[in-house]
Amino acid sequence: MIRLRGVTKRYGEVLAVDDLSFDVEPGKVTGFLGPNGAGKSTTMRIILGLDRPSSGEVLVNGRPFAAYAEPLREVGALLDPGSVHSGRTGRGHLRVAARTNGLPLRRVEEVIEQVGLDGAARRRIKGYSLGMRQRLGIAAALLGDPRVLLFDEPINGLDLDGVRWIRDLLRRLADDGRTVLVSSHLMSEMEQTADRLVVIGRGRLIADATTAEILNGL
Ligand code: ADP
Ligand code: ADP
Repeated sequence: MIRLRGVTKRYGEVLAVDDLSFDVEPGKVTGFLGPNGAGKSTTMRIILGLDRPSSGEVLVNGRPFAAYAEPLREVGALLDPGSVHSGRTGRGHLRVAARTNGLPLRRVEEVIEQVGLDGAARRRIKGYSLGMRQRLGIAAALLGDPRVLLFDEPINGLDLDGVRWIRDLLRRLADDGRTVLVSSHLMSEMEQTADRLVVIGRGRLIADATTAEILNGL
């Protein structure tokens, strides 16, 4: 469960997030929809504790996220998968992440299987396609078996098989009782993906309802 109350973020003159309040419930896929620049990534970074709000409060499972001793076990995130530029192999990258976070190495093999990285895990990340980078980023997010998961634009740029795969994965994670927040700037991506939608524009909340309600014009 994620709870935002009056979250505001300013970067100098730019009001990136403007008094945002919403809840993300477990057991559902919640879409976070808004045009580019609406404030989705900033909000996700704040939920993750990578950025501090200028004002307002974020609670993850009832506590401020910074209170967690073992972040990877509480919240997993896929942010900008294109940004993994490592000379390591996929498996090597995941092993470093596991070691750094005190997670058992068997989790590396489990997530490699879970995301279907398979043979690619022993190849260098440099040669990965976007689809493989997405899978690797998702594997890293799943490493700590977290109850809360954030995915920033995971569907963007994938082919049809990739889109189907991500949708199935999100559904399984939600059915498992996890809290799943997934951002997109395209309604067409979200209508078959999300149970609920939190829609924002210019940092402000525009709608917070079921996907069906929003498709039917509320
Ligand atoms: P989205 O993810 O919806 O595309 P962002 O959260 O990336 O939106 O950006 C929201 C607004 O905040 C944009 O106007 C963006 O330019 C601005 N912004 C985001 N990060 C920074 C930063 N580190 N410094 C200054 N402005 C930023
Ligand atoms: P997409 O995920 O975008 O559908 P594919 O995974 O089908 O793309 O791969 C696109 C190209 O990238 C192919 O030429 C494939 O051989 C290459 N490729 C895919 N995965 C790897 C990898 N792990 N290492 C090196 N090349 C790869």
